[in-house]
This record gives sequence, structure tokens and C-alpha cells, in this order.
Amino acid sequence: MTMLEFELSERFFSAWGGGEGVALGYGDDAALLDLGPGLAMCLDTLVEGVHFPVDTPADAVGHKALAVNLSDLAAMGAEPGWALLGLTLPDNSAAWVAGFAQGMRALAERTGVALIGGDTTRGPRTITVQLTGCVAPDLALRRSGARVGDEIYVSGYLGDAALGLRLWQAGERAGPAVGRLLRPEPRLALGRALRGLATAGVDVSDGLAADLSHILSASGVGGVLDVERLPLSPALLGRVGRVEAEALALTGGDDYELCFTAPPEAAEVLRKVSEQLALPITRIGRIEGGGALRVLRQGRPIRLDRLGYQHFAGAGGSDEA
Ligand SMILES: [Mg+2]
Repeated sequence: MTMLEFELSERFFSAWGGGEGVALGYGDDAALLDLGPGLAMCLDTLVEGVHFPVDTPADAVGHKALAVNLSDLAAMGAEPGWALLGLTLPDNSAAWVAGFAQGMRALAERTGVALIGGDTTRGPRTITVQLTGCVAPDLALRRSGARVGDEIYVSGYLGDAALGLRLWQAGERAGPAVGRLLRPEPRLALGRALRGLATAGVDVSDGLAADLSHILSASGVGGVLDVERLPLSPALLGRVGRVEAEALALTGGDDYELCFTAPPEAAEVLRKVSEQLALPITRIGRIEGGGALRVLRQGRPIRLDRLGYQHFAGAGGSDEA
């Protein structure tokens, strides 16, 4: 760490204070935590131009760098606690770091995360956050617990962030979809509520079809989705047609909603959780035997591919290209 890097990190990060379990926080060679058992740990890296557009506001980058990690802990049903930050910067712009720190700190304070250490280096702009949280291992939501007969649910709305990226690239800088792209809201309260209720969970970072497939393969089961049930926001339906909205919801990334499975008898509790959190929870399908994900429209299978999806050849239908 050069003197300048040291000054930058001292100036913007050292005063964030401690948190529960922090015996020694930001500033030494390593942080010291004094904890009981049951830690959840994750790490995510964002590279400028790959994971966020080059002209993304610094505070949004700070928010997102932490939010994507919080979303991973939410998907485990874990309580977030402590973050380490690796910051690689192309220049010594204090203004950029100040904006970044402000965006990250606002979310950290709101979610009970203490920043306890980090490193800054020179290079293409890249942000790594390592986040540690707490959850009893037997209560954690794993990908491997889905059982045949479980229902498949998803929180919030899907496809907005993918639309937001498209709009951003076309020059739009505001609006609900762009907001979903820049400032995803990690579903921590839902993850907490799902402990002991859901049988498996994952956060939707790479697109529903891809992320649900992780649950199916880890659980050794198959699944069937009805596209008519996908939760599509008015913001999305207001900008693209129904079929394209469904494609974005199935294959677009960056939504950071939770997809989870639960037995049919959990439906009533989930309805109450949805009400309490003021967050839509939508049943979109069910777990079945086999090992594949089947996606149905009006009972007919449609084929997913990398760019979207279309009907199986010969299965009828003509509106999908
Ligand atoms: Mg994840």
C-alpha cells in the first residue's frame, strides 16, 4: 500500500467504527472477530465495463458492490456482519472514492455491516467485497434441499435490471428499471423469514433459469415453470411486449431477488411474510422428478437459449423469434 492509497483508505474508511463481534476493526494487518460458531462467508468482484457500465455513478458502484454480497447472504438466510474491501483504481480520484464510500456506507449502515479492513491497488477499476455473516448451519438455506412436490417461488419482480441495462446503454439515466440495475435491494428480511420454512434457496444474479437450475442440480430434482406466472413489473411491461418481458425475466441477470422452494403447506405462512415485508412472493412452478428445468407456456414446453427462448420446433406458436 503506497502512502497515497493509505491516505485514501484512512480518510474514507477508517472511521466506520466497529460492530458486534469486532474485537479489532479497520486499520491493523487483519481484523479480529470474537464469535460463536455458524459463519456464512461470500465474496464477489465487480469489474468496470464487465459487471457495471463504465459511466456508472460512483455511489451506485459502492452500493452494488455490497448489495450483491448481501444478496448472497440473504439467499443463505444469514445475518450480515463484516466486510473486507479490495479496491483497484485506475487513478487517485478522491471524488470517485468519496462517492463510492458514501454509496457503500449507506447500505452498510442500513444492513448492519461493519467494514473491518481492505486493500487498495492501482489498475483497471475493480471492486472485491468479502462479506461474512452468521447463520446456524442447520438453518441455512442451501441449494440442495428441494424435494419433489415443493413449490417454486420468487420474490419481487424479474427482468427489470436487464431492461435497466438496455435503457442505460441507450442513454437513459433514470427511471424504475435503471434504478433496479444501479441499486438492487438485497432481500435480507425475506432470507431471514425463510429459515426453517424454505427447503432451498438461491439469489437471482445470473437470470432465473440459470439460478433455479443451480437448485435443481444441487438437489438432484427437476422443475417446471409456468411463464404466465412470472412476476413482471408495470415498468417492464410498459417498455417491452409480454413475450420479451418474459424472456428478460427468465434469462436477464442482476435482479437479486430470491428464488426458493417450499412445501405446499408453507403457502399460507409465505402469504403472511409477503404481506409483512410488502414484497411480492410469487409461486412460479413446482419441483418434479427428473433433472431438467421445463418451461411451459399454456402447458406447452418452450425452449430456453442464451439469448432468450422460443417454442420447440413443431410445438406450435408463432409469436417468438
Ligand atoms: Mg448467489
